Amino acid sequence: MSTEVDIAIVGGGAAGLTAAIFAAETLAGRIEGGKLPLVVLDGAKSLGAKILISGGGRCNVTHAVVRSQDFHGSQPIIRHILAAFSEQAACRWFASLGVELKREETGKLFPVTDKARTVLDALLHRCRELGIVLLTQHRVMDVQPSQADGVLGEQRFIIAHSQGTLLARRVILATGGRSLPKTGSDGGGWDLARRLGHTITETFPALVPLVLEPSMFHAELSGLSQIVELTTVVEGKVIDRRTGSALWTHFGVSGPVVMDSSRFWRKATAACLPVELRANFCVGEDFPDVAQWILRRAAEKPKQSLAKALSQRVPERFATALCRWCGCDPFSSIAQLPQEQRRNLVHGLTGLRLPVLRDRGWNYAEVTAGGVPLAEIDFRTMASRTVPGLYIIGEMLDCDGRIGGFNFQWAWATGYAAGRAAGASLAGC
Ligand SMILES: Cc1cc2nc3c(=O)[nH]c(=O)nc-3n(C[C@H](O)[C@H](O)[C@H](O)COP(=O)(O)OP(=O)(O)OC[C@H]3O[C@@H](n4cnc5c(N)ncnc54)[C@H](O)[C@@H]3O)c2cc1C
Repeated sequence: MSTEVDIAIVGGGAAGLTAAIFAAETLAGRIEGGKLPLVVLDGAKSLGAKILISGGGRCNVTHAVVRSQDFHGSQPIIRHILAAFSEQAACRWFASLGVELKREETGKLFPVTDKARTVLDALLHRCRELGIVLLTQHRVMDVQPSQADGVLGEQRFIIAHSQGTLLARRVILATGGRSLPKTGSDGGGWDLARRLGHTITETFPALVPLVLEPSMFHAELSGLSQIVELTTVVEGKVIDRRTGSALWTHFGVSGPVVMDSSRFWRKATAACLPVELRANFCVGEDFPDVAQWILRRAAEKPKQSLAKALSQRVPERFATALCRWCGCDPFSSIAQLPQEQRRNLVHGLTGLRLPVLRDRGWNYAEVTAGGVPLAEIDFRTMASRTVPGLYIIGEMLDCDGRIGGFNFQWAWATGYAAGRAAGASLAGC
């Protein structure tokens, strides 16, 4: 006979653990010794792999200001979900778990210990305190509603997992997306949702580094970061413009501004639309401004080399590489720069087209775009509008945030809503 639980949470990442804690707290009055009311099933050997590697091992827990515009997806629904569990609520909650957060200049919030382990340990500790059963190496292959097993007609779910089966009165799906599949989030969870009657919008890697054509100069600048304004142009129209730090790497470009822009490039490419990524290295200035600056500089210091002169504005290594890319000799004097070359160089400084070959793929993406449409979920409870007793949360949903702690905020907020609602539906609160 299968074990029966009140609530089964499939996936013990950020969203699943949060849902488990809030569900258990809501159900707390009902827990009796020996009963197994709440279980987290996870296919991985250990829980929270993504939390541990997040934020460079420091876990960027949330952001000082979280708005729906920081996310891609249905804005009114996202706004409601975030309002019910704000960034302040997340800070208070983590403080109650013993995790103090500190704010960095960028607005990102990290644990004061600078260790992601602090966040994971606090979540796991609270789960154990509440008697939540955490089952690792329990990969779920199927979830199906079953009327037959119910008492007084109440529906149960039959959960088929790698170690057997389980019956549950409520199921919360929290299997994540497809980014970094070796952590256990390989997209298989969407098949569970699909078989339960949900649709899945097209998924693709977001917050992902971009691979440039090998003829580009990125490899010689590997490790260099600089502030850049990136503009994504699709079918000749500007669809995104943002400024931030870009990092040159051996394969192409990375860094926060590239990761945030990658989604627009990737989406347009998937739709076979012509797309260009242009970089302005003189942020806030345009072609005439920079052309004037070069002329002024040539008048002031005519003998200065081009690379040295440009190093007033951009890192010298970059200036040297860009000069060559634009057909100029970086070591010739600035006053001797022919007009045509000056034009090329100013174009390079203010609107360099980055020759993107492809994104770096799921193994390097920080989040997944696409998933279960938010319209298929009740935003107050995260309950499925299709299957009573089912809840869907976290990265499985068609919502992804920009870099800065927003994706975890989404996991905490959706986990909170689903956990409380699933618990309350059983506790009769
Ligand atoms: C390198 C990296 C760094 C990041 N840094 C940050 C950051 O600093 N700040 C931030 O806000 N976001 C960050 N993110 C994004 C953030 O980690 C995710 O958005 C978030 O973890 C999603 O939480 P989740 O619970 O929905 O899914 P996940 O954390 O992916 O958890 C899903 C869980 O489900 C389990 N699972 C999957 N399928 C099954 C199945 N069939 N049966 C049983 N279990 C299953 C998996 O093993 C996994 O444990 C980062 C992501 C990456 C890859």
